[in-house]
Amino acid sequence: MLEVKDVTKTFGDTEVLKGISMDVRKGEVITIIGPSGSGKSTLLRCCNGLETPTTGQVLFEGQDIATAKDIDAIRRRIGMVFQHFNLFPHMSVRENITFAPMNNLGLAASDADALADKLLGTMGLSDKGDASPKSLSGGQKQRVAIARALAMQPDVMLFDEATSALDPEMVKDVLDVMRRLADEGMTMLVVTHEMGFAREVSDRVIFTDAGVIEEEGMPDRVFNHPQSERLKAFLSKVL
Ligand code: ADP
Ligand code: MG
Repeated sequence: MLEVKDVTKTFGDTEVLKGISMDVRKGEVITIIGPSGSGKSTLLRCCNGLETPTTGQVLFEGQDIATAKDIDAIRRRIGMVFQHFNLFPHMSVRENITFAPMNNLGLAASDADALADKLLGTMGLSDKGDASPKSLSGGQKQRVAIARALAMQPDVMLFDEATSALDPEMVKDVLDVMRRLADEGMTMLVVTHEMGFAREVSDRVIFTDAGVIEEEGMPDRVFNHPQSERLKAFLSKVL
């Protein structure tokens, strides 16, 4: 579904990604772990065209995202959830969810509203449709952000530290939603510091450090039998 081919990314004279290759198959859940500043967000942003690789390619179903004629059509199929929610503050919760389906998929208002209410139900937020994002807790905001992304019926979901800005007691609600999505077969690329989630939910774990994939494999291999010294050092700090 997604193929990252020898991608480098340079900002000014800093090479942030130094030749990353990976692929994401349909239905796979891949987590990316690694220290701050190792290029995880940049890699994720390259995967939906928010950043353009300096060299190398990102292919979505075989199409190069950087040169695709209709990047919007591709981006619509790639949902993204950010650390800081990025909800539209001046819209209600329901409007946050219905905006893109109405404007980009041409959904009628009544259908979009019904979709929003259904998604809010699955997020445990049935009573929040008319609320302002400002009135919600962080965990509720993030679940609205996930519902908003899902409303576009994406083929793959990218999560960039979706729980890092949350108070500890709210992390579980959001991880539960992500876990359920994974169980339902959603293709997911997840940058996270939640090692429990990475260990239990992912099919493969990728450890990035200083712009390269230092090590990758099944969770058991990465967490229980790390090979590289850098991964061992990282795990000793976070586990
Ligand atoms: P991570 O998500 O692993 O913490 P990032 O991809 O956010 O890493 O950042 C990797 C490095 O790239 C950092 O040193 C960061 O300062 C730098 N960087 C990221 N985006 C930009 C940008 N738009 N301009 C300049 N430097 C950037
Ligand atoms: Mg980041």
